[in-house]
Amino acid sequence: MDKKEVDQLIRDFAEQVKYTFGDKSGRVLKALAFAIDSHKNQFRDSGDPYIIHPVCVAQILLQLQMDEATISAALLHDVVEDTPATYKQIKEEFGPEIESLVKGVTKIGSFKLRSSEEREMESLRRMLLVTAKDIRVIIIKIADRLHNMRTLQYLSRERQIKVASQTMDILVPITERLGIGWIKGEMEDLCFKYLYPEDYERLYNEMERKYEKRVLILDKTHDILQKIVDDLGIKGEVKSRIKRLYSIFKKEQSKGMDKIYDVIAHRILCEDVKDCYALLGAVHNKFRPVPKRIKDYIASPKPNLYQSLHTTVLTEDGVPFEVQIRTYEMHKICEYGIAAHWKYKEGITESNKLDEKIAWIRKAVESEKDFKDSESFLEAMKMDFGTNEIWVFTPKLKVVNLVENSTPIDFAYAIHTDLGHKCIGATVNGKMVPLNTRLETGDVVEIITSQVNKGPSRDWLKVVATSSARNKIRNYFKKEMKEENIKLGKDMLEMEATKRGMVLSEILTPEVVKEFKSKYNLTDLDDVYATVGCGGLTTNQIINAVISRKKQETKRLAILNKQNTSGQDRGVSSAILVDGKDDFLVKFAGCCAPVPGDNIVGFVSQGKGIMIHSANCPNIKKLDANRFIDVKWKDNGDNGHFVGVVQIVAAGKHSVISDITTILSQSKISMQSMNLSVDPNGVENIILKLNVFDNNQLSVVMDKLSAITGVVKVFRK
Ligand code: MN
Repeated sequence: MDKKEVDQLIRDFAEQVKYTFGDKSGRVLKALAFAIDSHKNQFRDSGDPYIIHPVCVAQILLQLQMDEATISAALLHDVVEDTPATYKQIKEEFGPEIESLVKGVTKIGSFKLRSSEEREMESLRRMLLVTAKDIRVIIIKIADRLHNMRTLQYLSRERQIKVASQTMDILVPITERLGIGWIKGEMEDLCFKYLYPEDYERLYNEMERKYEKRVLILDKTHDILQKIVDDLGIKGEVKSRIKRLYSIFKKEQSKGMDKIYDVIAHRILCEDVKDCYALLGAVHNKFRPVPKRIKDYIASPKPNLYQSLHTTVLTEDGVPFEVQIRTYEMHKICEYGIAAHWKYKEGITESNKLDEKIAWIRKAVESEKDFKDSESFLEAMKMDFGTNEIWVFTPKLKVVNLVENSTPIDFAYAIHTDLGHKCIGATVNGKMVPLNTRLETGDVVEIITSQVNKGPSRDWLKVVATSSARNKIRNYFKKEMKEENIKLGKDMLEMEATKRGMVLSEILTPEVVKEFKSKYNLTDLDDVYATVGCGGLTTNQIINAVISRKKQETKRLAILNKQNTSGQDRGVSSAILVDGKDDFLVKFAGCCAPVPGDNIVGFVSQGKGIMIHSANCPNIKKLDANRFIDVKWKDNGDNGHFVGVVQIVAAGKHSVISDITTILSQSKISMQSMNLSVDPNGVENIILKLNVFDNNQLSVVMDKLSAITGVVKVFRK
């Protein structure tokens, strides 16, 4: 490439960036300039300026519709390794996200990837795990490798074989796993060319030789298929191609060379799943299907989410060809794989959404069978991966996903609840370790169990990091040891209360218990004890809640004390205990005029102290229920006089007034006021305000008043 061509490549790329990212192109263009400058005196094996490599890699990623951070990082992916530029510089110029992507790509480059066959999947997985913090790192690496494979001809034969076999063993499977169909296909063909040059040459020539004949069949069958689509009235299109050399080679290897094997492939894209099945039926109507070649990946998608209907049919002349039928959406997924998910919901590119996507691929890598249906896929997309994760292995190298700071106990519970309960020790990477050891990604953990083990230890609750382990331990204690827990919890609470100078039975009032019940969804006081006993609630949580409740109460009362004391007291405030104290401003409500012995309630009024009502006063129903406070009469019996209000209805020939005054004076009860009204029928209505000591005295005198001739009714107001 001469300088003019290189300049043109860079200009084209910059245009593409501006077109794709618009006013968000700044960072990419800055990265481009930085890369041009950093690589300015470097050349590739081909003799071309080095800069074309990062630009081409970035271009591949643009084609995958990756985000601008990925494109920026791709431009910078070789600067730290090959030029004087440092991570510090990258971080300062481009931010921590780009820095960590570049670091990740460099780190993968330094891996010694095993490629012996049986370990292939394992090394693939391990690599994904180590880097899975950000799946974009792997996607950059794939693009990097694709460009290197495209330019492999400039390397020595030895290097070609080394790079090609590593690509075939590691990167092709990863790319397939990520579902990026077109890159996988191109990479495979490139590897094929360098790994099996004779076969490649032979197949290539054969394809050339039969090319014209095949294209004829291709065109003819294409037109028939398109007519089938149109006749069904389905909106869809047929895309046709001669299969890739490597896939023909693979078929040849597995089935033996056939005179005519299907190298022609058609793909019908449509809008709806139901159209897919309708089309399959119509295709089978027109062409004879080859038995056992019909595959329904729509009903059972591949682990990488590939979905499609496959069938192989025969032309009238008996030439087989393959037809794949899928929706546009499915097509996007199988050509772009995880990269399609990047674009899937345009606009949602905050890092947490990216995390979800990463979570998905991690899950997909971890366990193929989990992804048989789209529901579990959605489930995985929704999973909350807020905490930093670590990945550890069972002795059989099964991957276990835990959170940071997890211990062998978390690990044991993650595998099976019983394994957790029976766990007595663990080895990490072959060495015995304490159970509170913090695990790290890549650790191989083995749990040592004992059948006679008495179950988990309460101390484990302090060391486990996963909520699932914590819940399982708690449940164990909760279920299996409820009685013991109640006793233990009570003892613990009593100790804590004593330590703080309190008495448990006094502070755990029914109100407090009620509060805990609703707050923590518990059934009764025993449940509170049991939950404390099993570690579900700490003693401090309980005692602190009690204290804060008390503090609030006191504060409320203190405010009351400060309230202005003007206005008429209707009684003796010291006769009433509010929260056990008698120095609050209280007033007696005129509506019901309670006297000692009556059931009463206190209402915290605004600015007028605590209003004391009779418990059956009709007026209290209208008051704000949140402002009632517990009050009681002081029971030392010497509270002075109270005003009791009595109403008398009389209907006789003579007035009852004189009889009333006689009874009051005999009873030694003084009267504050008497209010008499007589209606036109001569019915007397008398309201008496009497000074009494308590409700006993009042009811005695009321009985006497009822006995007066002519009195119909006597009652408390
Ligand atoms: Mn590179």
